[in-house]
Amino acid sequence: MADCLFCGIIEGKIKGDIVYRDDRIVAFRDVRPQAPVHILIVPVKHVAMLSDVQKEDYELIGAIHGVANRLAEKEGVAKGGYRIVVNCGANAGQTVFHIHFHLLGGRHFSWPPG
Ligand code: AMP
Repeated sequence: MADCLFCGIIEGKIKGDIVYRDDRIVAFRDVRPQAPVHILIVPVKHVAMLSDVQKEDYELIGAIHGVANRLAEKEGVAKGGYRIVVNCGANAGQTVFHIHFHLLGGRHFSWPPG
């Protein structure tokens, strides 16, 4: 989609530190990491936000979690524990409207989140 930052990274028009790619899913390091490991996992398909996910996308969303688990292993944070975050909408702090799953690890996370 034109003017979408993450579509730009997926298409290689905008520089991204890509750590995983297949035909449906791309993962790249967050430019402002909030933890030692902070990777954004996104579908190639432009879906703006979690509330836009349709039934036809359910398998894709599951596959994204599979990629997250494998990246957590690869990055060495699987054993200690990690967090997957999806911010949906303004109140949740979503700033980029191409759905993305934050994979955060390598430190302790408090609860409740801020
Ligand atoms: P959210 O606030 O959930 O929409 O998360 C958007 C995330 O995208 C933030 O953690 C930003 O630091 C990250 N971000 C913004 N621009 C870039 C970029 N060019 N490359 C990688 N991550 C980015």
